[in-house]
Amino acid sequence: QNQSTVSITVVGASGDLAKKKIFPALFALYYEDCLPEHFTIYGYSRSKMTDVELRNMVSKTLTCRIDKRANCGEKMEEFLKRCFYHSGQYDSQEHFTELDKKLKEHEAGRISNRLFYLSIPPNIFVDAVKCASSSASSVNGWTRVIVEKPFGRDSETSAALTKSLKQYLEEDQIFRIDHYLGKELVENLSVLRFSNLIFEPLWSRQYIRNVQFIFSEDFGTEGRGGYFDHYGIIRDIMQNHLLQILALFAMETPVSLDAEDIRNEKNVMKEYIPIQVKVLRSMRPIQMEDVVIGQYKSHTKGGVTHPGYTDDKTVPKDSLTPTFAAAALFIDNARWDGVPFLMKAGKALHTRRAEIRVQFRHVPGNLYNRNTGCDLDKATNELVIRVQPDEAIYLKINNKVPGLGMRLDRSNLNLLYSARYSKEIPDAYERLLLDAIEGERRLFIRSDELDAAWSLFTPLLKEIEEKKRIPEYYPYGSRGPVGAHYLAAKHKVQWGDMSLDQ
Ligand code: NAP
Repeated sequence: QNQSTVSITVVGASGDLAKKKIFPALFALYYEDCLPEHFTIYGYSRSKMTDVELRNMVSKTLTCRIDKRANCGEKMEEFLKRCFYHSGQYDSQEHFTELDKKLKEHEAGRISNRLFYLSIPPNIFVDAVKCASSSASSVNGWTRVIVEKPFGRDSETSAALTKSLKQYLEEDQIFRIDHYLGKELVENLSVLRFSNLIFEPLWSRQYIRNVQFIFSEDFGTEGRGGYFDHYGIIRDIMQNHLLQILALFAMETPVSLDAEDIRNEKNVMKEYIPIQVKVLRSMRPIQMEDVVIGQYKSHTKGGVTHPGYTDDKTVPKDSLTPTFAAAALFIDNARWDGVPFLMKAGKALHTRRAEIRVQFRHVPGNLYNRNTGCDLDKATNELVIRVQPDEAIYLKINNKVPGLGMRLDRSNLNLLYSARYSKEIPDAYERLLLDAIEGERRLFIRSDELDAAWSLFTPLLKEIEEKKRIPEYYPYGSRGPVGAHYLAAKHKVQWGDMSLDQ
């Protein structure tokens, strides 16, 4: 181990994501003693900067965990001393060769493992990969590349990107990051299901009525709509984050916790296919009549006027790009036949949250309905996994109100993380960076998974865009288009609502 070293190059180091997420996550890993003893971090981008200027820039966003404030300043100093900067173009072999030379000096003859984090716009991914792989790859250790979304705009462009990347890298060198998969509560999904007797037996159409995946933001694009307008909410949130969580939720039981066993299940052809991919391939094509799209419009509340989406100067005035979408999806397999999986994602809504809601079937027989006045048909059990904010898992149950009479009400068995665990929850980027360094691929998207995800959404996106579907307009700060409620009602579902959960 002492003979090897890891060199991490953040390509696009001057950018927003590098400052906000990547450097702070690397520091947190350092602070937690999770980085190898020998490591070097390089920032690489076109901006002119010295090592000291990079360190100054990075130091502004580093924080220590609440429970680990001791030595914080000292640790930051130590960490920053191991951060360096090289300025270069993304398509210059010469500049990557210079980087290679500098990395070699730090690696000092050890076995060098190299991780490149591509935190740059997608149109320059391939140039950077080409230069990094041919001029700055490790000669005696591994070389891995983390790629940020978007991975294309549809099946075709995604396949073209994968093909281009594979000219320079093997699939096992490419780590496609979906930071939702690194979130604590998403990681916990499998633990909840497979290590508690009470959940897994219920995890099927027999007991589950519907499952909801909800993502909402309480702000709009606020002057940063240029990127978003090219993609829209379906590509930005549904096709990747929500679909990945759905696949994780609905997959069959893995053979073991071993990464390859979790990802793979042997099929009759004796080929390995990932169990999450199996879920995706079992999904019914999404029908336009099972989708609602929306776009937020300006709204004045309490004397404050919030701009509409097309008021954003970076967005074309006639944009039809959806800022909201709701969809009903179905998995045609024995476990999930007929169970609606509903997704809802939107910007400029009334709350900020990401959660999974599992609504269970009604209790058969309704013993308590007749004489308690409680409508158990409506008050069924619901398991809520709140991914953010205020991470929590709660199960809504029917309970007797204490007293001599027999009256029931709804209560929560509530696991609120902040109350139960004093530890601060690591950011998703920490877990994923650590996994990439350790070569653990479970939480990264494989190319066959990506293909399956695009196959599902590409026909729908084409229909929306080619037929210029008009989104349903909803006021900024509202609950979104009314159409989403009709869509849910069509499948006999009521959207779960955080404000009604207490
Ligand atoms: P960014 O700030 O727009 O770009 C990162 C760096 O790339 C910039 O500092 C700039 O560095 C260089 N760059 C920007 N535009 C360029 C162009 N047209 N040609 C060549 N270089 C250019 O991006 P970011 O927000 O940090 O995000 C990085 C990547 O992560 C993107 O692919 C984005 O889609 C993805 N992503 C970001 C977030 C987020 O929260 N920000 C979340 C998920 C995914 P120099 O000018 O110094 O070379």
